[in-house]
Amino acid sequence: MSADEFRRAAHEAVDWVADYLERVESLPVLSTVEPGAVRALLPAHPPENGEPWAAIFADLDRVVLPGVTHWQSPNFFGYFPANSSGASIVGDLISSGLGVQGMLWSTSPACTEIETHVLDWLVELLGLPEQFRGNGVIQDSASSATLCAILAARDRVNPAIDRSRLRAYTSNQAHSSVEKGIRVAGLRPEQLRLVDVDDEFALQPEALAAAIADDLVHDLVPFLVVATVGTTSSGAIDPVAAVVEVARRNDVWVHVDAAYAGSAAVVPELRPLLNDGLDGVDSWCFDPHKWLLTNFDCDVLYVADRSALISSLSVLPEYLRNAASESGSVIDYRDWHVPLGRRFRALKLWFVLRHYGAVGLRAHITRHVESAAWFAAQVDADARFDRVAPANLSLVCFAHRDGDAASEQLLRAVNATGEAFLTHTRLHDRYVIRVAIGGTNTERAHVEGLWSLVSRLA
Ligand code: PLP
Repeated sequence: MSADEFRRAAHEAVDWVADYLERVESLPVLSTVEPGAVRALLPAHPPENGEPWAAIFADLDRVVLPGVTHWQSPNFFGYFPANSSGASIVGDLISSGLGVQGMLWSTSPACTEIETHVLDWLVELLGLPEQFRGNGVIQDSASSATLCAILAARDRVNPAIDRSRLRAYTSNQAHSSVEKGIRVAGLRPEQLRLVDVDDEFALQPEALAAAIADDLVHDLVPFLVVATVGTTSSGAIDPVAAVVEVARRNDVWVHVDAAYAGSAAVVPELRPLLNDGLDGVDSWCFDPHKWLLTNFDCDVLYVADRSALISSLSVLPEYLRNAASESGSVIDYRDWHVPLGRRFRALKLWFVLRHYGAVGLRAHITRHVESAAWFAAQVDADARFDRVAPANLSLVCFAHRDGDAASEQLLRAVNATGEAFLTHTRLHDRYVIRVAIGGTNTERAHVEGLWSLVSRLA
C-alpha cells in the first residue's frame, strides 16, 4: 500500500467514522441480527486477489453495521458505558501508525515516559495518594489489573508457605474478574471468600474481620482483600478506610477495583465518597475506557510500591538485556503486566486529557451524575417503582413493584423500541433494571427521553 493509497483510504475511513458518530443516535441501539447472520454475509473463502477499497468500505454498511450494538449511541444505558471520543480515536490512530512495541524503555522511550508522566497527571487530576506517583501503568482492562494485583500479593507471601493455605477476600458484590483472577493465579475458587454486604451492598468490615479471624484459627494465610468502589450491579462503594484497617492488622494486600467509578474523582466534591482510605491501599485501578472519554482498551493500575509487582512478573531473557535497563534508571513496563508487548496506549489518554482539560472532564462526569439524580428522583416519585440501591454516581437501579415478571417485561419492551438500551441484575433477590448513564454524548434530554419511554411502557 503506497502512502498515497493509505492517505485516501484513511481519509475515507475517518469520514466514515465521523458520519457514523453523527448519525449513531438515529440507529436502533441494540443489534437484532440472528446468530450466524453476519457470517452468512461473508464469502466462504478468503480473497485470492486483493480487493478495491470501495468494495471493502461498502461492506461496513452491508455486513458490519447491522451486527453492531451501538455503544456510542447517547441512548445506550446498559452495563457500564464504553466511552469513546474524537481525541482518543486520533490518539489510537497515531498509535497504530507508529506501530511501536513499548515493552522496554529502550524499544521506544516516548511510549514509556509519556505513560509515566500522564499517569502522574492523573494522580493530581483524581486526587490520588502521592505514593502512586511514578507507580502507574496502563493495562488492557480492569480484569488484567486485578489479576496483576492478585499475582503480586500472592508472590509477596513467604514462598515456604503452601499456596493451598492462602485466602483472599472480596464482597459478594465484587466483579467476576476477581474470581477469574484467583483461578488464573492457580488458586482454587474456594480460596476466595465472599464477604457479606450491608443494606446498600457495601462490604461489611466486621464480616471481613470475622472471616479473616476464622481463617487464622484454621491455620490459613490471608493475603489479599479486593474492595470495590462502584460495584457492577449497584454502584456500591466499599468502606476502603475500614477495610485497610482490618487488612493492616494481618499484613494483607488491599487492592481497590474502581473500574467504573474511579473516573468520577476528577470532580473534587466526589472525592470524599471515592478516595477515602486510599492512602493505605497497595493497589488501585480504574478504567478510563468506561467513563473518561478514552477508547477501549485503557485501564490504569497504580501500586503503592512497585517492587512486589515487578518481582512477581519480571523474567529476563538474554535477548531483552540492554544498557538502559541495566542502569536501573528507566521503567520497563513489560515487568508490570502479563504480556511482553504493549501498544502506545498513553497517546490516546494524553490526547484526551489535553483536549478536554480538567474543566471538560469534570463537566462530562457532573452532567451524568446530575442526570442520574434527576432520573432517581423520577423513580422515587412514581408509585409503580422501587429504587433498590443508592444512586451514588450515575447508576440508577429500580424494580417494578408488581414483581420480577413486570420488571423483565418493562426492560424487554424498552429495548424492543430500539430507542434505548438497558440491562439488568439481581439485588435482594429481585430482578432489577439498571440505568447506567455515562455515554460520551448522553445529555439530560436523552435521560428525559428514557424516562418517558419507561414511564409509558411500565
Ligand atoms: N470491575 C468492575 C467493578 C466492573 O464493573 C467491570 C466491568 O464492568 C470490571 C471490573 C471489568 O472491566 P474490564 O472489562 O476492564 O476488565
